[in-house]
Amino acid sequence: MAKTKVIAVANQKGGVGKSTSVYNLGAGLSMNGKKVLLVDVDPQGDLTKMLGQRRPHDMPLTLANVMNDVVSGVSGEDHSEILHHYEGFDFVPANRGLTAVEVGLVNVMSRETVLRQYIDSVKNNYDYVLLDCRPSLGMLVINALSASDYVLIPVQADYLAAEDMTELIGTVQNVKRQINPSLKIGGVFLTMANDTNFRKDIVSSVRENFGKHLPVLEAVIPSTVRLAEISTANKSIFRHEPNGKAAQAYRTLVKEVLDIGEKQRIKSSDTAR
Ligand code: ADP
Ligand code: MG
Repeated sequence: MAKTKVIAVANQKGGVGKSTSVYNLGAGLSMNGKKVLLVDVDPQGDLTKMLGQRRPHDMPLTLANVMNDVVSGVSGEDHSEILHHYEGFDFVPANRGLTAVEVGLVNVMSRETVLRQYIDSVKNNYDYVLLDCRPSLGMLVINALSASDYVLIPVQADYLAAEDMTELIGTVQNVKRQINPSLKIGGVFLTMANDTNFRKDIVSSVRENFGKHLPVLEAVIPSTVRLAEISTANKSIFRHEPNGKAAQAYRTLVKEVLDIGEKQRIKSSDTAR
């Protein structure tokens, strides 16, 4: 099997479509024959809920437990925290227990790499590991970036806050410099686009403000109730409305993710430059 690609989906703003994108990417990559693990790295457990676990806060075994195991030097062997989803991928759930883990990391040696140590112990079984980040730039997000080869950044089409982007990219560059030299920006993609807010100038403003080396992906995810519905339907967009434009947009995104790291174009987007 080719080397596993670990991809964080991050933006410190909430409600931009991170969890929705992680779910659809997971389903789409699986449909392409890839072995995929999704990891919920948000104490809110939104992804966990989307994947059919309606009461994440009642779950006894989640990412919080396995991160605590790393901290205390216990190595879980059976990995029963990994659940299987009927759409073909695996996932690790999360709940608010992760908040205590994040707070406790302050006192832990190698606190930035606790999640990486866990991911390293499971990733060999997968082609792709996708990390759904919480909306912050705190220690859990730094852990996710430290564990990743690439970061994908969803940006809401009508809200491009240059300041937020600068901060996020600064965090990515710091993690790359200090902890994880192999981290690269896989791309920025627009979400929740409609006829009034999708303007070419947002795409060009991303390019202008953040350098031509920050790849802006072709996929533009439309704003549609069909996508809002999947958070309770327990169906990815490929099952919920396979012929709609949202499924089409996510198919494009899946294709672009499959291309990440395969093309010279992406190499030249290395954030070290
Ligand atoms: P994040 O993980 O960044 O906080 P979510 O994926 O949870 O964002 O999406 C936030 C809310 O918007 C959810 O209720 C979700 O169902 C809805 N949503 C996500 N993507 C879209 C979209 N493209 N169009 C309309 N609603 C969306
Ligand atoms: Mg989310």
